[in-house]
Amino acid sequence: MMLDEASLIALVEHVDAALALQGCDHSLRATRTWALSHAHDPDLLAASLAHFGGYCDCEVAANVRPEVIFG
Ligand SMILES: [Zn+2]
Repeated sequence: MMLDEASLIALVEHVDAALALQGCDHSLRATRTWALSHAHDPDLLAASLAHFGGYCDCEVAANVRPEVIFG
């Protein structure tokens, strides 16, 4: 995981909020938007999230668990 714990929590919160408004279009749209606005490379972040089953925004929300990843 390329993000630190605080950043990952912020990402998941952003994605959760975006999903509540507009649902998932089976892309990483909200994830990529967050990456660009927080100076992270969207493609590197996508590759990092894929290791944890986060292939689209709803999978990031469901599968990428900061409390599990960082224990
Ligand atoms: Zn999805």
